[in-house]
Amino acid sequence: MNILVLNCGSSSIKAEIIEAETGQRLNGLKAERLGEAPIITFDSGGDQISCNTKGHEEVLKIALDLLQQRLKGTPIHGVGHRVVHGGEDFDQAVKIDASVEQKIEDLIDLAPLHNPINLQGIRIAKELFKDVPHVAVFDTAFHHTLPKRAKTYAIPVDLAEKHQVRRYGFHGTSHDYVSKMAAEFLQSELRELRLITCHLGNGCSLAAVEYGRSIETSMGMTPLEGLVMGTRSGDIDPGILIYLKEKENLSINDIDHLLNKQSGLKGLAGVNDMRDIIQKSTEGDDGSRLALQVFTHRVRKYIGAYAAVMGGVDAIIFTGGIGENSPVVRHRVAQRLDFLGAVINEDKNHDIRLSHEQKVVDFSMNHSRVKLLAIKTDEQYSIAQQAANLIQEKNKVNTVPPIPIAVSGRHMHITQETLEQLFGKGYELTVKKPLSQPGQFAANEQVTVVGPKNKIERVRILGPCRPKNQIEISRTDEFFLGIDVPVRESGKTTNTPGCKVIGPKGTVDLEEGVICAWRHIHMTPDDAAIFGVKDRDIVEVEVSEGDRALTFGNVLIRVSPKYKLEMHIDTDEGNAAELSRGATGALNATGGAAKLKKRRIS
Ligand code: AMP
Repeated sequence: MNILVLNCGSSSIKAEIIEAETGQRLNGLKAERLGEAPIITFDSGGDQISCNTKGHEEVLKIALDLLQQRLKGTPIHGVGHRVVHGGEDFDQAVKIDASVEQKIEDLIDLAPLHNPINLQGIRIAKELFKDVPHVAVFDTAFHHTLPKRAKTYAIPVDLAEKHQVRRYGFHGTSHDYVSKMAAEFLQSELRELRLITCHLGNGCSLAAVEYGRSIETSMGMTPLEGLVMGTRSGDIDPGILIYLKEKENLSINDIDHLLNKQSGLKGLAGVNDMRDIIQKSTEGDDGSRLALQVFTHRVRKYIGAYAAVMGGVDAIIFTGGIGENSPVVRHRVAQRLDFLGAVINEDKNHDIRLSHEQKVVDFSMNHSRVKLLAIKTDEQYSIAQQAANLIQEKNKVNTVPPIPIAVSGRHMHITQETLEQLFGKGYELTVKKPLSQPGQFAANEQVTVVGPKNKIERVRILGPCRPKNQIEISRTDEFFLGIDVPVRESGKTTNTPGCKVIGPKGTVDLEEGVICAWRHIHMTPDDAAIFGVKDRDIVEVEVSEGDRALTFGNVLIRVSPKYKLEMHIDTDEGNAAELSRGATGALNATGGAAKLKKRRIS
């Protein structure tokens, strides 16, 4: 599937046609010096065309027109657009319709330099490529998994909420892509790895990718926070701005320009290209030496912080123009990370030459517990893949509905025989209220469950009667009763402990049947097809709402046409996540890909 990937920035436009399965580049162009004297350079042949017009919109139209002419019959099956800010709304790539366009427009306040140009690109490309689907891939989406503690700024909550002030993170497509590449290279599952990804280019950011999810990243509400960059300051004491505003009588625009355009490497060394800075520092230029020191010091500082946040790290990845190409920077960052278990191999570091053929190089010593990897990022290819996946609707897991969660209190399933022993001959259960699973009900009848230490009264019976007795209790109940019970799937009561049960007309000593229920999701075969799971798969379910958001691992899938979609957990589990009525969970996908975090049991 051929995808046109369009990346419209403030000073340049990149358009590439990529075969999404193989990553093969079919054609492309770059329009640079927008706003001055725009030049369009074609990838194939490298020929250049100067534009007579300065306007962004006109240049984009000309560039796409020229590209279309050169396609010479090569079909385009879809267009993938890089969009910088997806705000709270977009946690994954989406097909673009009128409502998506509107949301991107609504987010202009959060990304005034980028979203308008991205949107313009979308609108022009939609006119030129009318008959194919267009997909938006957001820089922020990968960081949607940041926990609240990482994305919250310590300013008054009301103010932050009113203006959506929080950390969003950027470069998500690159962090996502290199994480996956690292997992593949290390022959590991993303869900088993703690990675620190260092995207060091003209813009720079780090991410802590814990078991496939971004849980920290150095850019914040805007791409200005964090590392020292080409022309951006990165972290700075906000008090400095107040101070300088007074001292230099600066306007907001002046401050914006100062921090975004005149700071970073440029502010320290007078130039923003790391190649020049390295060259000048070897020639003894003090400003360049300082720039290099401040730059690498900050990267190392963040690596230490992220290792602490994740409680360890398995691999540290260097990518972006600087991370991929500069042995000097990699050396300065990695040379003193031995305490983390990352030991650099200087020879390998020096010899790295990344290419499309060799995208990943390990430059750590063989005994290094933490791997140091240089990886060639490929945001364009990643955008092409995500667009193709959506267009082919491979990625169904990303569009699945939320799963309603029901918290079950302790209860008993009972046989007709035991019911009669406890309630009298010929007794039948009476319905108190129907339960969500078709045909099931909470009965009016209750029993007392007695363990070696304590007893629990008013344990409700659920009907209808079953072929086996089963009492489901929580871990807290277990300690209270003094019974050591296993976590079991419903119905699997062989070799489980029993207990005494008291009813109004009798007592029964159950030999077995007390379990702590294995958390599970009931679903129909249709639901299973939508979620891409099978009966008895094991998945993760994430509950992201509330202060005690958590991810439930080891959740059993149970499929039957008789079921209704619902996850069942016990009261301890519900309390742990502080779930309230109407709570829902999401099946976890690793790394934003279609692959479910699941395994099968026999
Ligand atoms: P990017 O934004 O990822 O394209 O990265 C661009 C930056 O990578 C440039 O501004 C350079 O500073 C840097 N860069 C590219 N090649 C090298 C190199 N060989 N050594 C040091 N820095 C480099």
